[in-house]
Amino acid sequence: MKEPFQPITPEVLTIDQWQQLNSLLVAGFTTKIGGFSERPFTGLNLGLHVHDKIDHVHQNRRRIGEILDFPLSTWVCADQVHDAKIVKVESKDIGKGVYDYENSIESTDGFYTLERGCLLTSCYADCVPLFFFAPKHNVIGLAHAGWKGTVKKIAENMIKTLQKNEHIDSTDILVAIGPSIQNCCYTVDDIVIQAVRNMGLGGEHYYYQTSPGQYQLNLARLNKDVLLKSGVIEENILTTSYCTSCAEQLFFSHRRDKGTTGRMMSFIGIREA
Ligand SMILES: [Zn+2]
Repeated sequence: MKEPFQPITPEVLTIDQWQQLNSLLVAGFTTKIGGFSERPFTGLNLGLHVHDKIDHVHQNRRRIGEILDFPLSTWVCADQVHDAKIVKVESKDIGKGVYDYENSIESTDGFYTLERGCLLTSCYADCVPLFFFAPKHNVIGLAHAGWKGTVKKIAENMIKTLQKNEHIDSTDILVAIGPSIQNCCYTVDDIVIQAVRNMGLGGEHYYYQTSPGQYQLNLARLNKDVLLKSGVIEENILTTSYCTSCAEQLFFSHRRDKGTTGRMMSFIGIREA
């Protein structure tokens, strides 16, 4: 498969196949290149909650707003808590969490919207970013799936919510699995592996043991199989080949950078015509 996330500038990768379906759509993921942040956040840190200088984060966010042609007043940011709840974003939510983390949408890792001219965003430094687009309905969504969100099946919750509340068939939903830490670099313990086994997907396909109590886990593949079980068509799922830990020149990595690092941002929005 061709890499679905392609650079439009050094700072921004976008899902160009989706933009071919709707020229008003913008969806993708930022890199750590450029930006104003200083060590240990050097580059384009977009997370407000990591104790970087807030002015630098605002400058970095403004830069991305300019590249995407979505000013900060159109962004929506959430307080991510590694849970699996899905929230519908409405016009009253636009602008939340852009300048001030306390003002983010409360405790939300997955959200979607029918609004135009609104950019959904969430922050990452290894977790799996999931992107959702229903082109017939012009509905867009994002979900943040670390190991906890993955085993709680946030991907399935999004598909079920779009089916139930918005009457969108799962076969009409496109999904992209974005840059995250891959099994080459993602070592987990028995607690995580037990949670994976409890998902009922037949765990062994997703990890291999490297030493007693240590495993390499493939979170992207787990999320893909949750999506397939939820009725998403395989041809409608794009999966990146980027590993955030391996691609040191491109991405921050919470694991590789020993817990103190910046955040990339996933984004999706449909411009007003
Ligand atoms: Zn890797």
